[in-house]
Amino acid sequence: MSLRLLTASALALGLVAFAPLASAQDAATVERAIAIRDAALRSNIALDYVTQLTTRFGARPAGSKAEQDAAAWAADYLRAHGFQNVRIEEFPLVGWERGESSAAIVGDHAQALVAAALGHSPATPTGGVEAEIVRFASMEDLQAAPDAAVRGKIVYVDLGQMHPMQDGSGYGPQTRVRGAGPGVAAAKGAAAFVMRSVGSDEDRMPHTGTTRYVDGKPTIPAFALSAPDADQVSRLVALGEPVRMRLTSTAHTYETHSQNVIGDLPGASRPDEIIVLGSHMDSWDLGTGAIDDGAGGAITVAAAKAIADSGRRPARTLRVIFYGSEEVAQPTPRTGNGGGVYARNAPPWTSTSSPARATSAPTGSMRCGCRPARKAPTSRRPPRASSIRSASWPRTASRPRAGSMSGLWGRWACPSSAWPRTEPAISTCTTRPTTPWTRSTRPN
Ligand SMILES: [Zn+2]
Repeated sequence: MSLRLLTASALALGLVAFAPLASAQDAATVERAIAIRDAALRSNIALDYVTQLTTRFGARPAGSKAEQDAAAWAADYLRAHGFQNVRIEEFPLVGWERGESSAAIVGDHAQALVAAALGHSPATPTGGVEAEIVRFASMEDLQAAPDAAVRGKIVYVDLGQMHPMQDGSGYGPQTRVRGAGPGVAAAKGAAAFVMRSVGSDEDRMPHTGTTRYVDGKPTIPAFALSAPDADQVSRLVALGEPVRMRLTSTAHTYETHSQNVIGDLPGASRPDEIIVLGSHMDSWDLGTGAIDDGAGGAITVAAAKAIADSGRRPARTLRVIFYGSEEVAQPTPRTGNGGGVYARNAPPWTSTSSPARATSAPTGSMRCGCRPARKAPTSRRPPRASSIRSASWPRTASRPRAGSMSGLWGRWACPSSAWPRTEPAISTCTTRPTTPWTRSTRPN
């Protein structure tokens, strides 16, 4: 899907700024929406933003100089496009650098493998780790294994190739292995951890991603094998002979800082009510993050700009935020991801609520203001822009009508049950399609 089309679609959410929801479906609103959408389709700002971002700075790991430089550039970009009150919100971060890594089968059937260290995994000792592999087909199998079956070995978890699903349900179980697997293996005394790369591709390009270790427990080096290499190792294990692997990594952490870039298009009559359009600035180090999440930034800045350029100033403030440190974040009370930092720093959440969950999500997640259904005591009032997160397009609550906003983009509504709560209300206004992508339906 093109950035222009995504931007135009994203406008459907931004347009709630024009009018109360009750009247958002009227013909005049739809007409204005269509005019703005068509203008967005003629605009090149989304492609310009993501092209410049990825070309000028390349990969932007959280806390790196590239991410910091990109943030400074993005602030200038917002200013140049008429955003006001542009500022950079810095926060401390434990950064992670991959360094050099390698993986290979040694001994019988010796051969090189393609692997990537998992984010925040530690280095191997000098000379690497060499041990016999013990393979598990699920996290449950690993958790149930006696320590003696794992101690001193390289744990290999292979759930099989990930199936791409529209609702992410193929991705979730795999990321659970990535997040928790190394910690479980370490607690059982494993020497290292290897998993099948999380991803639906069939290339020898392993998907990285971050892992987590339980505080106070030992950490072990952890890696993802590319899909063909994962197949190869599983076939070797299936031969029934011992399989030995050698792993090396020079990955390390360091003290640094990341930052959020924030710019406003002030509202005309209710400027203190804020509609946040969020994406994240950082990328993994193995690519330039054009899609995850450069495209998100492109969509949000272009959508906000299209509304601003429409000649009708929204009542509420449109705020574009490029969050720092989404990918590799290891949130602590002092450090964290950009979304959490923004939530902690943005009153009144800080006074009434625990920190919100990260507000960033790939591909231009939109956080839109909802009108509370009823008033609550002051101490429990939600943020004025209590938030609805839409990771894809809004739910269609009724049969779409051709020519209406719901027909164009799906009906958008804020569930009143999402408010009030003691924590910021973050609800997902999305359907959860379960249809797998197929080669014919997979988006390009
Ligand atoms: Zn992302």
